[in-house]
Amino acid sequence: MGFNIVLSSPSGAGKTTITKKISQKYPNIKISISHTTRKPRPNEIDGVDYHFVNKDKFESLIKENSFFEHAKIFDNYYGTSKKSVNKLHEENYDVVFDIDWQGTKQLSNYKELNLIKIFILPPDKKELKKRLINRNQDNNQTVEKRLKQYENDIQHWFDYDYVVINNDLESCFSQIEKIIESHKKEKMSFI
Ligand code: 5GP
Repeated sequence: MGFNIVLSSPSGAGKTTITKKISQKYPNIKISISHTTRKPRPNEIDGVDYHFVNKDKFESLIKENSFFEHAKIFDNYYGTSKKSVNKLHEENYDVVFDIDWQGTKQLSNYKELNLIKIFILPPDKKELKKRLINRNQDNNQTVEKRLKQYENDIQHWFDYDYVVINNDLESCFSQIEKIIESHKKEKMSFI
């Protein structure tokens, strides 16, 4: 399709599910698997959800200029490796990036990526708290930290092309499909 998608959202707004739905619906779009120093959650698999590495390894990758972008979030590093994204592009895939606003800012400098930047918001803070607790992946302290971070994260909506509210997964996904389809049409009209 010739464009790549960035999805960002405060933690718990449903972005990971949506990213997976995009790659299922569009076989030509692959998910960028980030590197992180965060410890794997019980259901996460190395090389599938993230490349889990230690701090020393991550810092040496930064020194080697291996990342398109990287950021420190909740005391852990996260980054998008150039090598794996370039490989997907060589294989003619487009890429969806599930990254935060700091990474989006850095990635935007690579104009050749033709990014469509989508920011997903939960309906409100109360609902976000409910989702963070229900997904049962983090302890209370981490949930509180993520809620605090939410206030900061949502300030960055204006760096994005689209803001979609995730009231309900199906309707949120159908809005994202509309965005993707409209960009596909736009590209077609240039051919
Ligand atoms: P989690 O720890 O819940 O998987 O992710 C925490 C945050 O890190 C999410 O907002 C997610 O989008 C972001 N994130 C994941 N991978 C990357 C990455 O490679 N770069 C950046 N900048 N953020 C990332």
